[in-house]
Amino acid sequence: MAQAKDLTTSDEQAYLDDAASRCHRQGARLTPIRRSVLALLRRRSGGLKAYDLLELIRHDHPSASPPTVYRALDFLIEQGLAHRIGRINHFVACNQHCHDDASLFLVCPSCGAVTELHDDGALAALATSLATAGHTLAGPEIEISATCRGCAPHRRAGT
Ligand SMILES: [Zn+2]
Ligand SMILES: [Zn+2]
Repeated sequence: MAQAKDLTTSDEQAYLDDAASRCHRQGARLTPIRRSVLALLRRRSGGLKAYDLLELIRHDHPSASPPTVYRALDFLIEQGLAHRIGRINHFVACNQHCHDDASLFLVCPSCGAVTELHDDGALAALATSLATAGHTLAGPEIEISATCRGCAPHRRAGT
């Protein structure tokens, strides 16, 4: 499953440069290893487990250890550049830079595909319901188990 080829594109460079300047504005630094971790997460729309990430990162940073990778992930989450999906213990690149509001994460129970959804209406309704029930969100990631299109049972054609 490892991607041996260098997939860096100009689009990815622009994204990473933008992430670096956002970090810089917050007084933080997107070090080479943090940058590599973010690039790998962004290439996988379904996210990556820390273990798989470690294997991939060793192509570019052979001396990377689990703590290095976890520290890089913590940094990216703190900077609003990545999210941790606890349900499947995956890490994903944020699809919208540094938002303050919560997002919905649709996690397919069959294939593990993750979709980050920014739906203000749904979030506002959810916040109201939670408040009524006497709860508040414990974190910005709201995970929902939802079968993806690819895994949904096929509808009968022609009807
Ligand atoms: Zn996000
Ligand atoms: Zn699926």
